[in-house]
Amino acid sequence: MALTATPIPCLSDNYAWLLRAADGRLAVCDPAEDAPVAKAVEAMGGKLDLILLTHHHGDHVAGVPGLVARYGAKVVGAAADRHRLPPLDQAVSPGETVDVLGSKAAVLASDGHTRGHIAFHIADSQILLCGDTLFSLGCGRLLEGTAEQMFASLAALAALPGETLVCCGHEYTESNARFAITVEPNNAALKARIAEAQAQRAAGKPTLPSTIASERAANPFMRAPDIATLARIRAGKDSFR
Ligand code: ZN
Ligand code: FE
Repeated sequence: MALTATPIPCLSDNYAWLLRAADGRLAVCDPAEDAPVAKAVEAMGGKLDLILLTHHHGDHVAGVPGLVARYGAKVVGAAADRHRLPPLDQAVSPGETVDVLGSKAAVLASDGHTRGHIAFHIADSQILLCGDTLFSLGCGRLLEGTAEQMFASLAALAALPGETLVCCGHEYTESNARFAITVEPNNAALKARIAEAQAQRAAGKPTLPSTIASERAANPFMRAPDIATLARIRAGKDSFR
């Protein structure tokens, strides 16, 4: 495994993902805050080379200025969103690859939650950094994009190898589970995933990363057979209490 990914809790329910290469070099994806990320970086050697950004929301980028000032890390984000991201050292577009600590990350179009949202798939490490597109048992709200875009984005992620680790932006799994079970009350894989997530939270652990195989089997948003169904489920979740 070329890189390892560790979730760093930020704010109330965000995760920044700290990536570590075998030689000890570090990168981070979506630093919502600088302090918890810096603390983890200090514990792992005190150098941060790279910052990856999936989208422009403050709860994914607010830690960038502090980390750049402290470590001089290079910032990578979507060319299409350059105007509303922190200053980028490398602007990338879907279809391109970016070097992440010696591993290749494929840049995937991931519109839906926002326009210009991207995901990074690091195949040699089986890591997917998907921001607010795919959550365990859920998907991002359609704040800027359409159900059609989210359907395409989720289909592209579902096509990744099953063992791929889903490193997403929020610890939403338990609240997603409460809605998901109303959509698929008889899905055994979903019931098993809910039990697993409850045990993880009870032990004080993150429910993430999940895997693409687990989401394919248990996530009603990823399992929606067509755009209309995804739109209906997403609207149902938006009003679910
Ligand atoms: Zn967001
Ligand atoms: Fe977010």
